[in-house]
Amino acid sequence: MAEYDYLVVGAGLFGAVFTQKAREAGKKVLVIDKRDTIAGNVYTEDVEGIKVHKYGAHIFHTNDTEVWNYVTRFATFNRFTNSPVANYKGELYSLPFNMYTFNKMWGVITPQEAADKIEEQKKEAGITEPKNLEEQAISLVGRDIYEKLIKGYTEKQWGRPCTELPSFIIKRLPVRLTFDNNYFNALYQGIPVGGYTKLVENMLGDTEVRLGVDYLENKEELDKLADTVVYTGAIDAYFGYSLGNLEYRSVRFENELLDIPNFQGNAAVNYTDRETLWTRIIEHKWFEFGKDENGNDLPKTVISREYSSEWKPGDEPYYPVNDEKNGALYQKYKKMAEDEQAKISAQGRNVIFGGRLGEYKYYDMDQVIARALEVCKENNL
Ligand code: UDP
Repeated sequence: MAEYDYLVVGAGLFGAVFTQKAREAGKKVLVIDKRDTIAGNVYTEDVEGIKVHKYGAHIFHTNDTEVWNYVTRFATFNRFTNSPVANYKGELYSLPFNMYTFNKMWGVITPQEAADKIEEQKKEAGITEPKNLEEQAISLVGRDIYEKLIKGYTEKQWGRPCTELPSFIIKRLPVRLTFDNNYFNALYQGIPVGGYTKLVENMLGDTEVRLGVDYLENKEELDKLADTVVYTGAIDAYFGYSLGNLEYRSVRFENELLDIPNFQGNAAVNYTDRETLWTRIIEHKWFEFGKDENGNDLPKTVISREYSSEWKPGDEPYYPVNDEKNGALYQKYKKMAEDEQAKISAQGRNVIFGGRLGEYKYYDMDQVIARALEVCKENNL
């Protein structure tokens, strides 16, 4: 008998949900993470009273009542609604694409005029069935918006031409013929009061957590500690990149603490031209309305410029590149994972792969939680 029922590798959202459910079911769990911090990429760090989203902005949003009911057990959420501003060479546009955007772009006043304009540009482009992100974008919002608000941003973000990217990426963004700047079509939305680190801390409770422990470097020894490993790291790394590496995008953040109260007046400003090197600037205090925990105005501000780059070994992976080539390679790794599961099950052991990296999927936070809850059910937790 191993000492623990579960060894959870990675203290991000998937690992935290799994741990919480397993503990609730009376299981013995050990959580490890190679970082010195919990919460994976939702980690928030306190700087002068501002919760800085250290690994990129995270705005919780979901349509899934089960997920919402679950997550609100561990935090209260504020009323933050994401509405980024796009800055195209000094012209400001509302996001997502809605009547404010169409009015600024074309001077159209009514939804019918906007719809006609989009239809006209779609026709001119001759697109009937969109085959890639470029065609999908033009058929959704027309060429002008594609050129000014999508093309440059997307090519910086993904380092690939829009004609070579899957169309689902742009379908993440709503298109509306109403005056509504809410970036998400979600029933529930907000930022956990006290930050995401606190949320994850509350999920983990008094579970034993060992930080600064690299699973893959100490696999043999760590595997002996538990019957089942819940692995939330990159699936290709688990197999030593033996079939070659899956492609990821990485992000570099340039953080600045400024001695002014307000830099850009919004949490997110996207720089949608191709020339500006960063994709967006996040001003973290606006996720909490510029206030500290006691409701006082914060005198300073922290901004982060985001630079997107191709992942290489040693970098932090952020976004899986879910195109055809990588999808096919992932399927091969998935098969290896199934073979591994079959092999070790003979010894009464198991390994579960989960999360954005473990499943190589562009999951949002709520989808990760939903998937973790599902995996728990499959495992009778
Ligand atoms: N996107 C864009 N212009 C923008 C914002 C987003 O073209 O101003 C596109 C881009 O292709 C991006 C995708 O929409 O990769 C999804 O954006 P989202 O904000 O969901 O990305 P995330 O917040 O996950 O980085």
